[in-house]
Amino acid sequence: MAFDHAEAGVDLHIHTTASDGSFSPWEVVACARKTGLSAIAITDHDTVEGAREILSAGLPVDLKFITGVEISSSPPAPYCSQGSFHILGYGIDLDSPPLGEALAALRRQRETRNPQMISRLNTLGVPLTLSEVVAEAGGAVVGRPHMAAVMVRKQAVGSVQEAFDRYLAKGCPAYVEKGRIDFENAVSLIRAAGGLPVLAHPVTVGLPLGELEGLLADLTRRGLAGVEAYYSTHSPEFTQSLLRCAESLGLLVTGGSDFHGEYKSGIHLGVGKGDLHIPFDCYATLIAALT
Ligand code: AMP
Ligand code: ZN
Ligand code: FE
Ligand code: FE
Repeated sequence: MAFDHAEAGVDLHIHTTASDGSFSPWEVVACARKTGLSAIAITDHDTVEGAREILSAGLPVDLKFITGVEISSSPPAPYCSQGSFHILGYGIDLDSPPLGEALAALRRQRETRNPQMISRLNTLGVPLTLSEVVAEAGGAVVGRPHMAAVMVRKQAVGSVQEAFDRYLAKGCPAYVEKGRIDFENAVSLIRAAGGLPVLAHPVTVGLPLGELEGLLADLTRRGLAGVEAYYSTHSPEFTQSLLRCAESLGLLVTGGSDFHGEYKSGIHLGVGKGDLHIPFDCYATLIAALT
């Protein structure tokens, strides 16, 4: 029987070893095929090297692909996010010079932030070094999950989640702000690279639904193209509200698990916590909007 793309799910939010995922791009491809996914996007933080690796080697015929990136951003005034305000860029040209330069600047800012966070951890009595964290990242963009993994290995904490809850999460004692690109710049960079900007995991913005809808309307006026309605930690009711909101604003709908492999336990490729199903249409409408 022919592979039915319309039935199989997709996953448009995936991290690899190019940033803070534990699966290499090719392990992600293999896992996607095993899971029966019909399309994927690699959306690493601050780098497109994972996506480039997959594109340069060619994809299996039964798996569709779209380029991506995830940028930490900040909402336009007067909105502010108590949580994470991340913008996904889909269908970007991986060789866009302005986007490449902006991502390189974000990576350089991490080189300032990482030693600051490690110094704070040391002051708090957690013994880890920058070289241990860099080794854990194995040449990738270093992120907090790599620090958490070293802390687990050195038995300073019992789990990655405990490392975040006690030390690394926003508002915790070892947290240091990272480089961000404000919303309008993120939109310009993604659009200049031929891509479509999408608000990632709206639940983490940390606003009540009514305010979130107001924010989405504002972002749409400023160039937002889509919203990640399907997400591992969205309740069915929250997803339905986002679908309604997207329809009334004319936004595209996307979805992804935010898979990080071992760095985010309990979140599986394509299915999140087990109950996530992202329709193929999310991929198809993105592609149609790009052409
Ligand atoms: P960074 O880019 O270094 O700020 O790290 C961001 C990554 O850390 C996210 O993509 C998640 O994988 C992870 N993360 C952020 N906040 C938390 C949290 N509260 N609990 C667990 N993981 C988190
Ligand atoms: Zn991450
Ligand atoms: Fe994110
Ligand atoms: Fe992510």
